[in-house]
Amino acid sequence: METGQTISKRMKVFAYIRKSTEENQEGESKKQLNSLEYQKAAVEETAIRNNLEIVKIFKDSKTAYKAYVRDDFNKMMDAFDQDGVDGEIKGIICSEHSRLARNFADGGLVLWYLQSGLIERIYTYDKMFTNSADDQMMLAISFAMDKHASDETGFRMRRAWDIRASQGQPPNTRLPGYRYVGEKGKKVWQIVPRVAPLIKEMFQEYATGKYNLQEITDCMFSRGLVSPMTKRKYSKNSVLGLLKNIAYTGVFYHKGEKVHGEYIPIIDSELFYKVQEVLNNKAHTKISVGNDYAYSGGLIRCAVCGGNMSGTVKKGITYYRCLNRIEPCKSEKDKRPSYLREDTIDEKISEVLKKVEISNKEFEKIAGYVNLLFEDEKTKYISNLRKLTIQKKEAEGELGEITRNLLEHRRLAKEKRDDIWKDEENGYLCLIRDSNERVNMLKRSMEIIEEIKNKLPGMMFDFLDAIKTAGSRFYESSPENKRMIVRTLCANLVWDGENIVWKWKEPYHILTNSAEKINWLRE
Ligand SMILES: [Zn+2]
Repeated sequence: METGQTISKRMKVFAYIRKSTEENQEGESKKQLNSLEYQKAAVEETAIRNNLEIVKIFKDSKTAYKAYVRDDFNKMMDAFDQDGVDGEIKGIICSEHSRLARNFADGGLVLWYLQSGLIERIYTYDKMFTNSADDQMMLAISFAMDKHASDETGFRMRRAWDIRASQGQPPNTRLPGYRYVGEKGKKVWQIVPRVAPLIKEMFQEYATGKYNLQEITDCMFSRGLVSPMTKRKYSKNSVLGLLKNIAYTGVFYHKGEKVHGEYIPIIDSELFYKVQEVLNNKAHTKISVGNDYAYSGGLIRCAVCGGNMSGTVKKGITYYRCLNRIEPCKSEKDKRPSYLREDTIDEKISEVLKKVEISNKEFEKIAGYVNLLFEDEKTKYISNLRKLTIQKKEAEGELGEITRNLLEHRRLAKEKRDDIWKDEENGYLCLIRDSNERVNMLKRSMEIIEEIKNKLPGMMFDFLDAIKTAGSRFYESSPENKRMIVRTLCANLVWDGENIVWKWKEPYHILTNSAEKINWLRE
């Protein structure tokens, strides 16, 4: 098996060849260089010379100056993603470096992959680039020398610089926590000292994952966050808009371009993306993750004020209480309902469920609905995963582009590293930090969704089992199952301090022959 051993010792690489149509007009010699056959021969020769094993040849025969076009180049980059940092595919062979950098974004992407270790080496017919800082710089310069790439670079960089130099401020945006000061045309963002700390608190509180949107809206209103125009409470959607506004981190988008702002950030990007992660998870996952309060999150409401009852633990016992954020509970202490013990709810729900007899026929009917419910849930996860995958690709493309900008910035200003140069440098580093956080946040969100998606079949089985034995085993069910059962069977649970009242949901009211409404007294 000597041959086998020799083969396994060879470094595995992909080859990339590309035929560009515009070069066809540039004479016979170019035409020959451009042909796929010629390039294929060149990469094969390079492979033999460097003792490399070509795992696959990716080829594109059309020109594309637009980034993110689906073709073999992107398939190759995807394959590196799949292969991972410790994967067996170590590099790319191409006939000349310009084949890789069809456009600005792709060049940046290649550099980023090199930097992140997904690609270790790039071989051309006569050169080899490693992932050392010097080689990355050389490659960046080589890419920039490419006529088309450099044209586009110049334009895009000028535009980005223009924006930063002239403004460094998000144009035409009013954002709570900042106000414009200065004369017309030279207005800059300044922090509003009374509001900015509240904005920061809002992000910090929401990042804990303990609030839903309504709760954080109410909570921040109670702490004094009001709309500057109306002096009234923000709507849930406005608060969502604030929580999603990246400008609070000192970075903003202008005409699709990410810009480093010249104003003081209110929060850092780590906190911002933690909040985005919580928002992602809340939007994507109906089933609560890591929440031990079976009936929290708006499942039970306070009969006095209509607010949500929220879980809390006191001396090892779980209670639900009105958060007293809405009138009359907010100011009138004696009107507030008493705390509601979780085991009391369990007991009463299980008591009612015990009386409900489920025939096999009815159970089958429920099983059908539950199956649909979970199928529906799974479809949502899959479509959300798809959305996040696209977002991650965009974020990575952006990261590549900024990294590319940074290298170009360093190259262009090699002699003149003055204060302005340093500011620019810091700006780029800040943008890169932001993009990194974004990519990592998306990765974490995807992992969580993937995990839940995989847990779904098991959860469905547990859930059906819990329904079948709802009365006798309800008490021992996991918080998730209790929650699912109550959410599936009951609606409008209200606690007034003495009674808990709910309605049976269609079609589950078939379970109870008696009334649509169930009432019980505390004593
Ligand atoms: Zn209340």
